[in-house]
Amino acid sequence: MSDTQRPTWCDIDLTALENNYKAIQAHVGNTQVMPIVKADAYGHGITQVATRLEELNAPCLGVAYVEEGVTLRKAGITTPIHVLGGAVERQIPLFIEHDLIFTAPSVDKLRQINEAAETAKTKATVHLKIDTGMERIGVHHYNADTLFEAALQCPAVKVEGVFTHFASADEPQLEFARLQLERFLEALEFYPQHSLPYPTRHIANSAAIAALPEAHLDLVRPGLLLYGVAPTTETTQTIALQPVLSWRSEVIYFKVVEAGNPVSYGSTWAPQASTRVVTLPVGYADGYRRALSNKAQVIIDDELHNVVGRVCMDQTMIDIKDSSAYNGDEVILIGSSDAHQITVEDLARWSETIPYEILTAITARVPRRWHT
Ligand SMILES: *Cc1c(COP(=O)(O)O)cnc(C)c1O
Repeated sequence: MSDTQRPTWCDIDLTALENNYKAIQAHVGNTQVMPIVKADAYGHGITQVATRLEELNAPCLGVAYVEEGVTLRKAGITTPIHVLGGAVERQIPLFIEHDLIFTAPSVDKLRQINEAAETAKTKATVHLKIDTGMERIGVHHYNADTLFEAALQCPAVKVEGVFTHFASADEPQLEFARLQLERFLEALEFYPQHSLPYPTRHIANSAAIAALPEAHLDLVRPGLLLYGVAPTTETTQTIALQPVLSWRSEVIYFKVVEAGNPVSYGSTWAPQASTRVVTLPVGYADGYRRALSNKAQVIIDDELHNVVGRVCMDQTMIDIKDSSAYNGDEVILIGSSDAHQITVEDLARWSETIPYEILTAITARVPRRWHT
């Protein structure tokens, strides 16, 4: 770590990322893989992750916002970048300036893109967005023809792809996901009916990559899987993944807390007998969520210990009972020791959220150390 000595940090294992990318590619065979690096690559560092994926010849990268695409271009990334989310009209020139791939989720937006491209005397590459059941951005599948037809009237637009998004591919019941796939394929019949070749067709996120092989189509869009985290418990059985991120801190204070004396805000926990409590310099302002209070465990010296009392903004207390721990001892918040492992999925379960929110909640205050 060059710029900081902060005793709380994340290690990012880019070799694990590479292995996950290759495992996903092997799993989907001839289907293209577009790694998703939005939200600072799910907290893993968008520039570092994209650089590694570019070295691996990823065919394109997916981001949510145009700003994320601009960040990558400014970092020297030359791989095609697809902006998956919507954009407002004033952002359209940014796409053109930085050679980013548009999502066109409506006829209006498509025409705005066409006009902007004509003005700039260039061609805009777009993927048309169809809504098959998410009720988010995109033209309803039952009106998809209007978008497909409008695209044929936009000479400055090149339709490279057509896509949609699953609402519940991570649930054990896949009926709705199958219905969405069916609606998507039905809408796409427009192309053969007009004797046109299919654009690149894509629908599968991480959950569908693992659970719904018939949804792989021409391209898949893995986010969470790439980072070695499973959206469902079945996932790890079909694809061998390695966690990419681990999160560590250090003991910064030790004290003995006498029986009955409550620890932290709100006095939510007190020991029944005198016990040893250490303080860690990490809190909810780092993304170590307050919902982990009295729920989470950490690993110190290959032993599991409980978080006790409320997690504070910048500090968290651990009951180490009769173990010993010294200032500077390493503490694993996410990661493995010889005998124990704490996963992103564990933190999600303890704080009653999803792994996505755990990863993306780790704030910029936590320094990242990248390992190639
Ligand atoms: C974020 C996102 C993905 C990746 O989702 P995961 O569940 O992390 O694989 C795929 N497609 C779209 C449109 C997204 O916004």
